Amino acid sequence: MIMDQLFHEKVTPFLRQKMAEVRSTSGPRSTAYLALHRQYLRDRRENGLVRGRDAAPPAVLLSDDGEPVVGIQRLHRCVATLRLTGQCAAHCRWCFAPSHRDDALSAWAVERAARYLGSERCQDVRELVVHGGDPLTEPATLADALHAVATQALNINVVRVHTRLPVVDPTVIDWRFLDVATTSPNLRCEVGLQVNHAVELWPETVAAIRRMQRSGIIVYNQHVLLKGVNDSADALTELYDRLRDIGVETDVVYHCAPHWGMDHHRTSLARGLQLLQRLSHRGAFSGRSNPTLIAQTDLGVVSLSSDAVVSRDEHGEVLLQTGHQLEQRMQWDPEFLLPRSVEIDDDGYLRVWYLDGTDVPYESVQKRTAQEIAKTPKPHAHHTNGLDTEGVDESDADGSARALQHLAR
Ligand code: SF4
Repeated sequence: MIMDQLFHEKVTPFLRQKMAEVRSTSGPRSTAYLALHRQYLRDRRENGLVRGRDAAPPAVLLSDDGEPVVGIQRLHRCVATLRLTGQCAAHCRWCFAPSHRDDALSAWAVERAARYLGSERCQDVRELVVHGGDPLTEPATLADALHAVATQALNINVVRVHTRLPVVDPTVIDWRFLDVATTSPNLRCEVGLQVNHAVELWPETVAAIRRMQRSGIIVYNQHVLLKGVNDSADALTELYDRLRDIGVETDVVYHCAPHWGMDHHRTSLARGLQLLQRLSHRGAFSGRSNPTLIAQTDLGVVSLSSDAVVSRDEHGEVLLQTGHQLEQRMQWDPEFLLPRSVEIDDDGYLRVWYLDGTDVPYESVQKRTAQEIAKTPKPHAHHTNGLDTEGVDESDADGSARALQHLAR
């Protein structure tokens, strides 16, 4: 499938206006303008490139009564996620989340999800991450979901809403979720933003953040490390300083995930770690900003440190060590199917293969020709995870068989 069909360019009128202003005041080659252009406007290097990895389709679980529950995933003991919609106000080029373009969950599905989260099998779940797409593009569904969780899943104390709307168009935010969040005494609501460059902290964005903070919402930032956008000491220092000034906590930094056609945005893991460690060691930003580099793998997020990489193969893939054991994972999610990219170490801990990026400069990454694409190995047999269009059944079958063998040992 070609990128044109899969992920079209989508930019809000607000962003277009801001980009025009920054271009006119700072110039078309300024770092501020390029930081915007490269995040939202299609790059010719994306064209015609097939994807190596796609977003997982919306999860479907079975509740105790055999009814399907859509949108929930449980990757950790105490945290579950709810994918509310596949729609976004703008399309960030490196993100595959909206590629399924599913509409918002129905009222029935939201109700089912809340009841499932409150059921006996989820009593360990304390936090719910509501994500998408962008949940704030579906304000009525988001408000319903918060209300349903507050009334039917009393074990959940914290709901984290992940959104970019305050960055890509703060002028259209529908604030009804704040009403539910501030009138549900047993629920603490937090908002996770994604600000990748200081230029995106528009006055309107800061005003929206302040409005949430005044309502008692904790606002934090988790951003992506993007080559050509923010992979420099200066860009990150300015970003963390500005966020600190407005009381937004810096949380995690995502290594740019391995979608084909995104090579120009992907640094190596080593470069990401080195950048953050050097900045931190030389006291470039407040000690209260403590960004941790993480990778979004077939097993969910894995925290990165210099000893997280267990080995590396000839295709540029690295084997990452997790702190999860298979038994734990299956306790949290009995329907968990082991992706083919996963191995189990001698102590039962899971390891996962992940395609590393490179440190070829942004401008030097070339568009691949059709012949080169044909010759490029598919991101590794062990990297398919059943998420691409081929091999879903095969990888799931492989993974499940290995999981059962391991558990039988
Ligand atoms: S980063 Fe968020 S807003 Fe951007 S495309 Fe992905 S899900 Fe949508």
